[in-house]
Amino acid sequence: MRKFEKSVKLNNVCYDIRGPVMDEADRMIAAGEQILKLNIGNPAPFGFEAPEELIKTMSNNLANTEGYSDSKGLIEARRAIIEYDNKKNIPNVTEDDVYTGNGVSELITLSMQGLLDYGDEMLVPAPDYPLWTASVTLAGGTAVHYICDESSGWYPDVKDIESKITPRTKGIVVINPNNPTGALYPESVLKGIVKLAEKHDLIIYADEIYDRLVMDGKKHVSIASLAPDCLCITFNGLSKSHLIAGYRVGWMSISGNKKNAKGYIEGIKLLSSMRLCSNVPAQSLIAPALKMLDETDKLIQPGGRVYEQRECIVNLLNDIPGVSVVKPEAAFYCFPKLDTKKFNIHDDERFALDVLRKKRILFTHGGGFHWEEPDHFRIVYLPNKRILEEAAYQLKDFLSDYRQID
Ligand code: PLP
Repeated sequence: MRKFEKSVKLNNVCYDIRGPVMDEADRMIAAGEQILKLNIGNPAPFGFEAPEELIKTMSNNLANTEGYSDSKGLIEARRAIIEYDNKKNIPNVTEDDVYTGNGVSELITLSMQGLLDYGDEMLVPAPDYPLWTASVTLAGGTAVHYICDESSGWYPDVKDIESKITPRTKGIVVINPNNPTGALYPESVLKGIVKLAEKHDLIIYADEIYDRLVMDGKKHVSIASLAPDCLCITFNGLSKSHLIAGYRVGWMSISGNKKNAKGYIEGIKLLSSMRLCSNVPAQSLIAPALKMLDETDKLIQPGGRVYEQRECIVNLLNDIPGVSVVKPEAAFYCFPKLDTKKFNIHDDERFALDVLRKKRILFTHGGGFHWEEPDHFRIVYLPNKRILEEAAYQLKDFLSDYRQID
């Protein structure tokens, strides 16, 4: 009998989205059990409401956004994106260099499909947002993971990156601010990466979807602004900063040195045309949304929900014997560490399953983010403080006598 499946086993590279833990959660939910989901960065179910003005604009525009748009997107949207890129000092982005997408997700996949041949390598962070590894793999490439170092605030280890560059390396993915660690990278680290990209002629893929969710008065620097001599593709969108993940609005901008990328850019154009265009009513929100950049500021200031929830979860986690966490500076994730000796943990997926079954709390184990050691897990701290307190209490209780069986 023929087997119908791709030889690349995608469920091996995209656990965050599927895998045994998610399957078990689905089974429990179907059986009527209540589960606390700390596994997905989707603000809406946790009482975050999209800005009223955007909802109105979307509904008012429905009648005049019925048709396909230009495959790259509405011109007003692309102009607003260029204005945003200019503010972030991303160089030489023209109307031709901007592509809107059904979320950043679609464009990540498209940009990998347009580039990679079998055997090509892409440097991807570990831990990563797993869609990157999945997209590289789906396109036929090999994701080579470089280490982000917990002991230095989860910043990329530039030496490790350099040691993994080979003649087949085509590019480097930089997720800043980062999912799952919540780290915000300083300019010095970004400059180190740019130097490598210049030296080895690598494309920089900058996933900056959390750039407007930065706390503690820090400022996000776009890596493309430091790399005018490299080819850069910067990804951004409205799912997180404007709390409209379900509307599916994202974009990518090509900047820097495009001289040797004619063929690649032709491929991107073709792939973009093949999906005709991205959701047009959603595109119509880009220009107004990018005029409302301080809309979510209140969430990330002291007293705001995201800020206060971060303070709450970080303190509570660091209070659990055998658990420690680097304080995140952006987004709404943290990536706590477990004392594997204390708990005899050798399989982090097993640990996530055990917590799920015993405490009905769902989170993603570190391996879901291509973190090799079984000593981390990710918490999404979007639920309100009361729920986070309860989750931390239950986790502490669970860990008080947990020892993983060999
Ligand atoms: N990039 C990162 C780092 C993310 O965390 C996410 C979603 O969680 C995405 C991209 C996908 O975002 P979108 O909703 O625009 O597809």
